[in-house]
Amino acid sequence: MSAQILDGKGLAEKIRREIGDSVAEFQKRTGVQPALAVILVGENPASQVYVRNKEMACEKAGIKSLKYLLPATTTTDELLALIARLNADSGVHGILVQLPLPKGINEKVILDSIDPLKDVDAFHPENVGLISQGRPRFLPCTPYGIQQLLVRNNIETAGKHVVILGRSDIVGKPMGLLLVQKGDGANATVTIAHSRTANLPEVTRLADILIVAIGQAEFVKADMVKPGAVVIDVGMNRIEKVTVDEKGETVTTKKLVGDVDFCSVREVASWITPVPGGVGPLTVTMLLLNTLNSARNFVAGQTGNYI
Ligand code: NAP
Repeated sequence: MSAQILDGKGLAEKIRREIGDSVAEFQKRTGVQPALAVILVGENPASQVYVRNKEMACEKAGIKSLKYLLPATTTTDELLALIARLNADSGVHGILVQLPLPKGINEKVILDSIDPLKDVDAFHPENVGLISQGRPRFLPCTPYGIQQLLVRNNIETAGKHVVILGRSDIVGKPMGLLLVQKGDGANATVTIAHSRTANLPEVTRLADILIVAIGQAEFVKADMVKPGAVVIDVGMNRIEKVTVDEKGETVTTKKLVGDVDFCSVREVASWITPVPGGVGPLTVTMLLLNTLNSARNFVAGQTGNYI
C-alpha cells in the first residue's frame, strides 16, 4: 500500500484565495486594511527567508505588511520599546516577532509584551489559557494548519488516538490542546511523547494519527507506524546528501527533509504529508487568517473569541 499524499501546498493556496476574497470584502465594507507587523532581529538566513515568505503572502492576500529589520545588537529594552509602539498603533492588527531571537534578548519577556489582542502567533499566556479552556481568540498557526489539513481532507479525529511526537510550546503542546477539545476536528484521545518517553516505537505504533515535530531528520521509520495510520510530518531539516554521479565523483546536495522517513513510511501509512509541500505552507496561511480575524475583532470592538 502506498499512502495518499496530504497536499498542504494546494490546500494553502485554496485557503489563501478564500482569505484574499475575505480581506477585499472586509476592506470595502469597513475601509480598514488588515496589517501585520513582522520584527526580525539579526541576520539568521532561515529567518530572513521565513520573513520574506510572510511578507509576500501578506501582499498577495491584500494584507498590509510592515517589516522591522533590527541589528543583532538590539537590546531587550529597545525591542520592548518598538513593541509598545506597535501595541499602541491602531493601524496594526497583528505583531509577530520572528524566532529565534539572538542570545542576550529575553525571548519570554518579549513575547509576553505583545498585546494579547495582536498576538497572531497565539504564544501569549493569556491566549494559550483561552485555547486550553476551549474558547480561543487566536489558534496557533502550525497546529491550526494541521487541523485544517485533517478536516478538509475528511480525516476523522473524533475518537481517534492521536500521538504527537514533540512537546514544544510552538507545535506539540498546542497541537494536543486543539485536538483534545470538544468540537469538530477535535474530540481525539491525545498522547504527547518526547525525548524522555519510554518505549517510543510502542507508543507511536498506537497512533491512528501520528504528528511528528521533533527536528530530527527522518527519525520516524516504518516500524514506528501502525499500518493505515495518518502521518503528519512537521519537521523541516536541511541536510546534505552525498551521492556518486555517473563519472564516479561524489556530489553533495542540500535537501530539505522532514522528521519522518517519507520513503519507508509511505508504504505503511494511509495518508502522509510531504516535506516540502505539507505542513509548512499552511502555517503562513493561518497567520494571514489570524491577522484578518484580529482586524475584524478590532473593528467590531470585541476583545473576546470569535473563531
Ligand atoms: P523543539 O522546540 O526543538 O522541540 C522538539 C521536541 O521534540 C522536544 O519536545 C523534544 O523533547 C522532542 N524530541 C527531540 N528529539 C527527540 C527524540 N529523538 N525522540 C523523541 N522526542 C524528541 O522543536 P519545534 O519548534 O516543535 O520544531 C520541531 C520541528 O518542526 C523542527 O524541525 C522545526 O523546524 C519544525 N517546524 C516546522 C513548522 C512548519 O511550519 N512546518 C513550524 C514549526 C516548527 P524534549 O522536550 O524532551 O527535549
